[in-house]
Amino acid sequence: MKTIDDFDFENQKALIRVDFNVPLDAEFNVTDTNRIEAAKPTIIKVLEDGGSAVLMSHLGRPKGDRNPDLSLKHICHAVSEVIGVQVKFVGDCVGEMAEKAVAEMQAGEVLLLENLRFHSEEERGDKAFAEQLSKLGDIYVNDAFGTAHRAHASTTIVAGFFPGKKSFGYLLAKEIEAIEKVMRTGEKPVLAILGGAKVSSKITIIENILDKVDHLIIGGGMTYTFVKAQGGQVGDSICEDDKMELALDILKQARDKGVEVHLPVDVLAANDFANTADTQVVDVDKIPSGWQGLDAGPATLENFGEIIRKSKTILWNGPVGVFEMENFAKGTIAVGNFIDEATQNGAFSLVGGGDSVAAVKQFGFEHKVSYVSTGGGAMLESLEGKTLPGIAAIIEG
Ligand code: AMP
Repeated sequence: MKTIDDFDFENQKALIRVDFNVPLDAEFNVTDTNRIEAAKPTIIKVLEDGGSAVLMSHLGRPKGDRNPDLSLKHICHAVSEVIGVQVKFVGDCVGEMAEKAVAEMQAGEVLLLENLRFHSEEERGDKAFAEQLSKLGDIYVNDAFGTAHRAHASTTIVAGFFPGKKSFGYLLAKEIEAIEKVMRTGEKPVLAILGGAKVSSKITIIENILDKVDHLIIGGGMTYTFVKAQGGQVGDSICEDDKMELALDILKQARDKGVEVHLPVDVLAANDFANTADTQVVDVDKIPSGWQGLDAGPATLENFGEIIRKSKTILWNGPVGVFEMENFAKGTIAVGNFIDEATQNGAFSLVGGGDSVAAVKQFGFEHKVSYVSTGGGAMLESLEGKTLPGIAAIIEG
């Protein structure tokens, strides 16, 4: 498969799908430029080759309306600052105005198109709209992992108009490589740490991951469905009674596949779902009525630490406690520290999907793990084993 390095962009116009869905304050200043920085290497590669870059993105959810608050013109300044080139802006992403602006571009220039979602055809994956987009570049580059799980016009359908002339950008390639490392090529032992609130939202991931890992740590709110299913008392802890059968089935599948499952043995229980609640450490299967497990206990963390330290490939999805409350964040912080240690000792660690990224950033582990995914939903679907349409559209040649 071709990578972006296989292309020479000299005198070529690259039509690049980026994810510039950035947060803005009340004065329309960009308050976090991470996503722009993440796309920079791809844009710079095109410019250094002697090409020009046409950038397209969505911002917010205008749902086909031209909501001026969601115009990408607001971010033009921030993009110019990050890229180091004065970025031009055009007030539509298709049609005469956009085509004229592209036709006038010189090598080394960057043009930002107006919000793709000002046209409802974008999210519908409309083919005629995608064809209009395709007129704005010679080579199509997808560098937006966060929307790769959507079959939208700019993320998927447009690729069909660039046979042999399409590629992933560096960011998307890095995401794919990180997932591959965990799911296929990672050094053993491979460990997945799955936390979060509910079994029901993680079931497809668990089932898919059982074929890939040697160890599975289950933590967070999911714990209690597994514990109750095995006859334990979970008090008032979050528990999905209708998923208990499933929990037992997962444990059986794991045994059959030779995967070692590690569940908490003790928990920090609270008498209320509040940071100010009274707390006590209890065995995970003896939580008194009126009490609920909100974080991993000390013996559990010791066990988790042992497994994490000896793993060579680590996937972390989901906190092991209610990390939003300071008194129940210690378990999640401890897990982060163990992963940091393992990573320093040569393990590959990937954090991604949903709330894990928020937890990792909040506690400053962002630069201590090998890779933090930029796409919540896209990462979850990848871990579920789905082929993302935006990725398939590039691979299909
Ligand atoms: P998810 O989006 O599925 O990864 O779930 C993340 C959420 O799970 C976070 O908001 C945590 O507060 C929550 N969570 C983790 N552990 C527990 C627990 N023991 N009880 C209730 N919620 C939890």
